[in-house]
Amino acid sequence: MTEPDRDVIRGLDTFGRMEVSDACNLTPTCSTLCPTDAIQRTNDGELQFNHADCVNCGVCESGCPEGAITIESGLERSRLPENRDGEEWEPVFEGEMLECVRCGTPFTSRGSMESVRDEVGDLVEGVAGDTEHSIFEYCDECRAQVVFQGVNNGR
Ligand code: SF4
Repeated sequence: MTEPDRDVIRGLDTFGRMEVSDACNLTPTCSTLCPTDAIQRTNDGELQFNHADCVNCGVCESGCPEGAITIESGLERSRLPENRDGEEWEPVFEGEMLECVRCGTPFTSRGSMESVRDEVGDLVEGVAGDTEHSIFEYCDECRAQVVFQGVNNGR
């Protein structure tokens, strides 16, 4: 009997197939942990996966703080660049990045910001001084400067 023309070849288990749920907060954890740079986060809030470079180590799945990643074993031919007009990167999640209200640099996802604000918001309330913005709307560098200016202004 002829083998059917399968899209997924599970026996090739040195390839991993990533799925990402709505629990994703676009933290940089997975892209930082991945040993083969098979995950990237774009400045406009897209998480992208490169199936050809994934070695199915599972580090992103176990390291994701939101438990949003699932990796299944096997090669999925339709996800390879040759079957995607040469495109290596595939969007696996669409979120929203926040831009620093001072310098405009995209610095974190809205989901991450909201989760940190919910955790420590009361502790740092008002630390941004007399600005109209919350401290959570600044990137790390600008946040430090805003707080420093507040301290120097006798706060
Ligand atoms: S399973 Fe490993 S190689 Fe594949 S995307 Fe996750 S961290 Fe990278």
